[in-house]
Amino acid sequence: MKSIVILGSTGSIGTQCLDVIRQHKDRFRVLGLAAGANGRLLAKQVEEFRPRVCGLVEAKEPTPLPADWEGEFLSGPEVLSALAVLPEADMVVVATVGAAGLDPTLQAIASGKDIAIANKEVLVMAGDLAIAEARKHAVRLLPIDSEHSAVLQCLTAGRREEIRSIILTASGGPFRRWDVERIPYATPEDALAHPTWDMGPKITIDSATMFNKGLEIIEAHHLFDLPVDRIHVLIHPQSIVHSMVEYCDGSVIAQLGTTDMRTPIQLALSYPERLPAPAEPLDLTQLAGLEFMEPDMERYPCLELAREAAHIGGTMPAFLSVVNEELVAAFLGHRIGFGAIPDLMAQAMERHTPIQDYSLQTIHETDREARMVARGLMGGQEMD
Ligand code: MG
Repeated sequence: MKSIVILGSTGSIGTQCLDVIRQHKDRFRVLGLAAGANGRLLAKQVEEFRPRVCGLVEAKEPTPLPADWEGEFLSGPEVLSALAVLPEADMVVVATVGAAGLDPTLQAIASGKDIAIANKEVLVMAGDLAIAEARKHAVRLLPIDSEHSAVLQCLTAGRREEIRSIILTASGGPFRRWDVERIPYATPEDALAHPTWDMGPKITIDSATMFNKGLEIIEAHHLFDLPVDRIHVLIHPQSIVHSMVEYCDGSVIAQLGTTDMRTPIQLALSYPERLPAPAEPLDLTQLAGLEFMEPDMERYPCLELAREAAHIGGTMPAFLSVVNEELVAAFLGHRIGFGAIPDLMAQAMERHTPIQDYSLQTIHETDREARMVARGLMGGQEMD
């Protein structure tokens, strides 16, 4: 029986993670649930899964917790950190979004918990620290991101020194076939209409700009210890091949499956074991074909910016990731246009002097600087 804490239990990954646990109640026990502001859904989850502890970061109204539940309820900004280090936890699922997951993840690692990580910004912002800490505490860092879950599976086919490259696949998002001139004027509704994956709003916008794939390059670089220029991206509109590893003898090993996040979530929970999954089986005869193409940098400038930040290294990926987080929130709030996202990211990068050897404190300072720079740049851009 594995005792599990979920940080971000009411989001897209959190609810799907609970769905996996619901299918395997003999294997996994929910010890703690932490959510952002959705007290109503959290209360429902407590009713069903009976965790020992639950918490809400922003408790705006009284949380309707079940009267017969005798667990501990926490609220306030320290909730994620408190749940990340519960002594009885075997694994912490980090299903938060953006920079919010950074400190709790590092705290969970330091207290020896295995980590199932969906919050890719943690690795992008402080991958060097997270990986070093995980080694030090003999902690497993298991990816929930479908591409990285695929790579993890493909890596069993050979030895590390035999790897030539990692090939991450990308759907291309909703703007793959739009006129490039039209893309800057896309609305949040246009950008939220993802063709293949059902995900939370931030990652869906990042998929539309393909900054998400840039983040995934950096994530893969840290998780699999491979130089950034050996991690390639191919657009694959069908989202059936979730990623590939190319070996020195020319063999390319791929992992295929339907687009159901519960598959990589479940593998992260049960790794290295495999359990029966609720996902639809893949029927290859129903596919009209599988296509692969190079991403067009004019269409996806944010992917190029992420690559550039990855090459610069140090605090630059953290800086760019937080700038993007601010811009995406502004775009979703109709405060800036879609085209402003890459434009302002490029301008912001020019204002940051990266620090190569960083500490967690350096990353926090970078976070503050990035938000200030992003807000300053948006000041001249806000729409009516
Ligand atoms: Mg992904």
